[in-house]
Amino acid sequence: MVRGEGNMQFLKGNNLPRVKSSNQSAILRMIYYYGPIQRAEIAERLELTLPTITTNINKMIEDGLVRQVSAAHMTGATNGRRAGLLEINAAREFFVGVELVGEQWSVCVADFCGQILSSRGGTVRDRDYEAVMRQFADSYAECLAESGKTSENICGVGIGLPGLIDRENGILWMNSIFQWSNKKVSQDFAALTGYEGKITVENNATARGISAQIFHWKELAQGKSFAYMLVASGIACPVFLNNSSYRGSVVGTGEAGHMVIDPHGRPCACGNRGCLEAYASEYSIITECINEMRQERAVTLRRLCADPEKPTMAEILRAQHEGDCDVNRVIEEAICILAIAMSNIINFTRPDTMLIDCRLFVSIHNRNLLLNKSKSALCNPTFYGADIRFAEEGNFANALGGVAVAIDEKLENVQ
Ligand SMILES: [Zn+2]
Repeated sequence: MVRGEGNMQFLKGNNLPRVKSSNQSAILRMIYYYGPIQRAEIAERLELTLPTITTNINKMIEDGLVRQVSAAHMTGATNGRRAGLLEINAAREFFVGVELVGEQWSVCVADFCGQILSSRGGTVRDRDYEAVMRQFADSYAECLAESGKTSENICGVGIGLPGLIDRENGILWMNSIFQWSNKKVSQDFAALTGYEGKITVENNATARGISAQIFHWKELAQGKSFAYMLVASGIACPVFLNNSSYRGSVVGTGEAGHMVIDPHGRPCACGNRGCLEAYASEYSIITECINEMRQERAVTLRRLCADPEKPTMAEILRAQHEGDCDVNRVIEEAICILAIAMSNIINFTRPDTMLIDCRLFVSIHNRNLLLNKSKSALCNPTFYGADIRFAEEGNFANALGGVAVAIDEKLENVQ
């Protein structure tokens, strides 16, 4: 039995999806996370017998999913046991990732280990659902052509979108900022691209959390849990457990964006007043910057941006960098609110690691402001020291979250 399966009944009772775990997928995950790894270590970590491990692994080697990388310590076969190291055969399977994060869309083709073969990306100017889906489909075709792959080579597609997602049915229930509701995303993507394989739709913050878990398992699995705070058009903070057979966020999408900061405050796209998103999301920062420019302030930003009614986050960040004090004030106010919200989430969920994925924190000045402000809100006897980390700049423009969702499906449903 796989460690952590004791949780299954509890999770099922809570109607959480995807609690299935088989020996085979557990072994494949072990090789994915810890490879190159020896059979004996897999057996020990999973508390399975070596013959069970060997039978399963022989099949994976036959199927080309796994390969042996070192024959140096081979001591001859005994009961089919060999001492070679095992790793994932990266070039065996290919996946497509699709993401919309804030105003950035991205599409890519990647191998089994998440190495990107080709990619496309840009800024969404038209928020119409059909237009965004067409952009995805066109870029999918371009990425395939550039990588030299065909639809038949693609093992799965993962799509990360902002909002409430029904993963089982591939439906986006609601995205208040883009004003999308009840969109049959996987069905529409299949119709537009002609792709006939598995398409998995996931909330974008959850997708990026899965990406952190899959591609950085060794660093994150030191602790029991981690939270992934994505600040883009909205704000979400899903939480992940490392020693559980349950895949994905244990708190749904972690819709942190609609926690009320001020009951009489700014109106939010959801219809309420004073939500966190109305103060600290990219959407709210863009809205505040437009207001500044309408009042003849934020002159640097005004000079930099192509359309003063539609500044992009990239333009806003450049204006801050170039010393626009009005833009700086808008950003600092947003960070102060974000720091309080983040501290509340840390105090409430106690994750071992807090990963922050937000373009504002490319700037060291903004990073330090967040850390200093959150310190005062965290500094009480219950604080136990979460490790706060920032996503690397390269993360913002790629679709590795989508790729990770597709790979995670493959690891879970290996035959
Ligand atoms: Zn709201």
